[in-house]
Amino acid sequence: MKLQVQRTYNFNAGPSALPLSVLEKAQAELIDFRGTGMSVMELSHRSRPYEEVHNQAISSLKELLAIPNTHEVLFLQGGASLQFSMIPMNFLQPGKKASYVMTGSWSEKAFSEAKLFGEVYHAASTKEGNYRSIPTINELQYDKEDAYVHLTSNNTIYGTQWKDFPDTGDVPLIADMSSDILSKPIDVSKFALIYAGAQKNLGPSGVTVVIIRKDFLESANTNIPTMLKYSTHAKNNSLYNTPPTFGIYMLGEVLNWARDLGGLEAIAKRNEEKANLIYSVIDGSNGFYIGHADQDSRSLMNLTFNLKTPELEKKFLDQAKQAGFVGVNGHRSIGGCRVSAYNAVPVEACQAFSEFMTQFQKDNN
Ligand SMILES: *Cc1c(COP(=O)(O)O)cnc(C)c1O
Repeated sequence: MKLQVQRTYNFNAGPSALPLSVLEKAQAELIDFRGTGMSVMELSHRSRPYEEVHNQAISSLKELLAIPNTHEVLFLQGGASLQFSMIPMNFLQPGKKASYVMTGSWSEKAFSEAKLFGEVYHAASTKEGNYRSIPTINELQYDKEDAYVHLTSNNTIYGTQWKDFPDTGDVPLIADMSSDILSKPIDVSKFALIYAGAQKNLGPSGVTVVIIRKDFLESANTNIPTMLKYSTHAKNNSLYNTPPTFGIYMLGEVLNWARDLGGLEAIAKRNEEKANLIYSVIDGSNGFYIGHADQDSRSLMNLTFNLKTPELEKKFLDQAKQAGFVGVNGHRSIGGCRVSAYNAVPVEACQAFSEFMTQFQKDNN
């Protein structure tokens, strides 16, 4: 018997919406995974059925993102936040510097962690403009000798997103793609390392995806704890210790869903359509809604805006909540409003919210 479910309009910033069909499949397979008589959570991570799940997830990710053979996929734990420390630990060699492009709170966190391990500096920063924009590629100032350049591809809190990435030549380019990985096609070959916590676009929290270039991996520092070395996980196909098996299973199912939607070109188009439903209301509101990000830096994943007064903003957020829209409050550090329209958020949710915004303006103008 299939229960009638009430699914809410979920605009949470992370953990966030998952595709309903993936949740339903997980539910159907929950207590007897493909004839094993066990849940996927109860399988040994050394067993054949689990290995298939694990390897399938890796190959699906390679296929969807068109990851070249020069790169490896790793499944780690500790979130994107542990990557903030693992990266400098592994790749900030003694005597070298690393540069960071500062575009928001997550870049700041990555930068402060790296400072603990060596010399770091800003390749550019848009902090003075309250992180409304992404610097142009020409504005980046890094050195050919840098250990690496680090950037945050989508700024989850401020709602800005890189549209093109710099070509850094021999300087390894590293990107935190936690909140826009899988949202559009990217050229993986430009990057020495890409990392992302899964809980925005890839699956449930608990898995961190790392895509790393093999020759970069070989250049890593060696005198660091085993679990914090990328090479440990690369040598062991991310099975050095017990991986987050259920999370990896879910990630694999999300990837199948993304493939069935038509892959990343189709997903990118759908994300544009979703974001436009809301940005067009902001742009046509005569200043009733005020977008935070500059137009050319706007994120298709996290749409941030304010209303004219704190009172009106509170009324808007209260009514949005009453109308069944979840997660529209801005991040606790900056306030305002934020709609997170990740891959799994359906077009209808954005349509319904854009209608709500239009109606609210009519009622309060
Ligand atoms: C959410 C987020 C993080 C933090 O991820 P955790 O997995 O919670 O550590 C880091 N960077 C960006 C861009 C994020 O959106």
